[in-house]
Amino acid sequence: MFGVWNHPQASRLTYLGLYAIQHRGQESAGIVTLDNGAQIIKKGLGLVADIFDDETLNQMTGQAAIGHVRYSTTGRNSLDNAQPLTAQLYNGPVAVAHNGNIVNAHELKEELKSQGSIFHCTNDTEVILHMIARNPSNDLMRCLAESLERLDGAFSLAVLSHKSLVAARDPYGFRPLVLGQMEEGYEGKPTYVVASETCAFDLIGAKFIREIEPGEIFWVDESGAHSIFINRKTEGAKCVFEHVYFSRPDSVVFGESVYEVRKRAGQILARENKIDFDIVVPVPDSGVPAALGFSAESGKPFELGIIRNHYVGRTFIQPQQAVRDVGVKIKLNPQMAVLKGKRVVVVDDSLVRGTTSRKIVGLVRAAGAKEVHLRIAAPPTMSPCYYGVDTPEKSQLIAANQSLESIRDFVGADTLGYLSVEGLSKAVRGEDGGYCMACFNGKYPTSLFGLDQKPKGNVRGI
Ligand code: AMP
Repeated sequence: MFGVWNHPQASRLTYLGLYAIQHRGQESAGIVTLDNGAQIIKKGLGLVADIFDDETLNQMTGQAAIGHVRYSTTGRNSLDNAQPLTAQLYNGPVAVAHNGNIVNAHELKEELKSQGSIFHCTNDTEVILHMIARNPSNDLMRCLAESLERLDGAFSLAVLSHKSLVAARDPYGFRPLVLGQMEEGYEGKPTYVVASETCAFDLIGAKFIREIEPGEIFWVDESGAHSIFINRKTEGAKCVFEHVYFSRPDSVVFGESVYEVRKRAGQILARENKIDFDIVVPVPDSGVPAALGFSAESGKPFELGIIRNHYVGRTFIQPQQAVRDVGVKIKLNPQMAVLKGKRVVVVDDSLVRGTTSRKIVGLVRAAGAKEVHLRIAAPPTMSPCYYGVDTPEKSQLIAANQSLESIRDFVGADTLGYLSVEGLSKAVRGEDGGYCMACFNGKYPTSLFGLDQKPKGNVRGI
């Protein structure tokens, strides 16, 4: 998510902001600007750069905008589910962009439907618009606060009304959300920006001010910046997987540099899993910082033994005659010159189903490695996420169903080692709590409203 208030190039800044956070979702993207109280909306399926061109952005006039890139965790990948969602309400036009997953969305939806609400999409975000719409108050902030108080689960939101830009974060603080300012401002007033990750600010030259806090509703309007809090929890539940995999390494998430956290995770991993070996090889790109940490701690060289092709899109066409491993080789190519005859530690950020690791271990071995030791810079993935990270259901999580030895056997490594939960806590400096580690320890901070009893809606090809 990205949002901007008070800038003559609002749509272009939003475009750039979304470009920087494209890794957070590649299914669809959208921008809504506000020009003289009216919304200008453009959404499409695919990548930001494919949906917006110069001409479209020129037409998207207005000094405020919000944007979104989507990867679905509730509702299928279709244009009607693309965000921001927009509606014309009694209180004026409203657009909502949401990151996270609302665990009681189904219950709320049923209640709203029974009162006559008509839903257009199958995602969990639309309930917010309906709850705002049904609130009799003509104070939008009050409508929003009373609506958000009824949501459970993960939501970081950017909301654009005809009078204000709002940024709100659920009381657990599952998903990140940061506030920034452009140095120059516009017409004597500050230009505010909000984004899921600080890397978006770096690209547009905005200054990071602070995080939107768990339970905070921050808004900026003609009269300036304001903030109120809802249902604040004493114990937060920041998503640890943002640090493990999801966020960009050049972002500062929950006050910690993602790069430094991953490097620390690699260092602790090396300490927890002592072994004799020759070189450390990352699985690019997400394993790179952890492998650097592993190398620094062990004193063994870091080598780029696997090279990634960055131009592989989703629509890779398989050759007509089966070519062994082409699916993984198109993306990752092992280098014989580096690997041949070596005892190799391969470092990846996480192991979910084990199918990727199995292929990678096979490639490294086929390139002549004498030994392959797989090290994972996260604990075993034991439980699905219901808060906005798309993990497969439990039956497909290899660590939830098999022993360490049988996973090692499946991936074909000589040895396999994971980071401990305590080690990860240390890496994120979360020893005193404050993090959701449900995917690794099965402790869900909220009720799941029966979601764990139902098949998971979306399973991406990971
Ligand atoms: P696998 O063990 O084959 O299921 O895949 C693990 C790989 O997928 C790791 O290299 C991760 O970098 C990556 N990964 C982990 N979680 C996700 C996710 N939620 N979405 C996409 N890729 C992921």
